[in-house]
Amino acid sequence: MRLVTYRKGTSRPRLGALAGEAVLDLGALAVDLARERGTVRHGRGGVPATVQALVEGGPAALAVAREAVGHGEAILGTHGSGGLAERRLGAPAARVRLQAPIPRPARNVFCLGRNYREHAAERGAEAPPHPVFFTKAPECVVGPGADVVHHPVTSELDYEVELAVVIGAEGRDIPRERALEHVFGYTIVNDVTARDLQKRHGQWFKGKSLDTFCPMGPVLVTADEIPDPQTLAVALRVNGETRQASHTSKMIFPVDECIAVLSQGFTLRPGDVIATGTPEGVGAATGRFLKAGDRMEAEVERIGVLANRIVAPRP
Ligand code: MN
Repeated sequence: MRLVTYRKGTSRPRLGALAGEAVLDLGALAVDLARERGTVRHGRGGVPATVQALVEGGPAALAVAREAVGHGEAILGTHGSGGLAERRLGAPAARVRLQAPIPRPARNVFCLGRNYREHAAERGAEAPPHPVFFTKAPECVVGPGADVVHHPVTSELDYEVELAVVIGAEGRDIPRERALEHVFGYTIVNDVTARDLQKRHGQWFKGKSLDTFCPMGPVLVTADEIPDPQTLAVALRVNGETRQASHTSKMIFPVDECIAVLSQGFTLRPGDVIATGTPEGVGAATGRFLKAGDRMEAEVERIGVLANRIVAPRP
């Protein structure tokens, strides 16, 4: 499933799934399906209201969501997205606004630094012997299409395309060979960074946590569709020009090892987001930093394209 958080008009954010050019309203579809079966259920037909709640709901919630998607795809096949919209069970994707799949993570976004050899080298660093962990503040998460603010405090604004893991099942001391069983799914994070602040303040938190510095999305792809996360091309373009082009097979510490090490003596919880590091090609390596008006496109194979524009701060 390609799960999304979306808004239509002024409605509250809803849980949906992308099916071709349509967004399925999973709550409405689950209710419709229950009605058809004569087993009218209360509320949202057993589908949680948010992606976070769906992740926390475990396999049972996921199964109901899958049934709702199946129902929506059947209606799409027969009546198209118009038929879907007519029955208020979804909408053409162009008519909704996507948010980050998890718009406000419950905890800091966990991140890997220097997890690609060529990126470590371009930053003048050795490949680290152990995973380098840092975090970004959850308040800086924004969705696809959202503006990223060029705060005046920085003159070295940079991008970083990253495969991001969303944890499903809670766990501590997770063995590497079971680590992928704890993954709910995958999305894209653009780890926007103020290089001068990253350097100036010693720890990376400040330079990577300014408001709007964590674009995430556009979809959360469930783990069944990506059985091996080390098989994905990753790329980032600025104004259409490719700046980063690599592959998750080149990670120094693959996803299962990152989860195993991070969870040592530390409980990972449903909805935790782990950004797995960026490959070479960042602006800091060439001195080509971002400016207002630039359009970033972060792409990960089988997930999609996360596009965001840099804007000057409002006075
Ligand atoms: Mn990063």
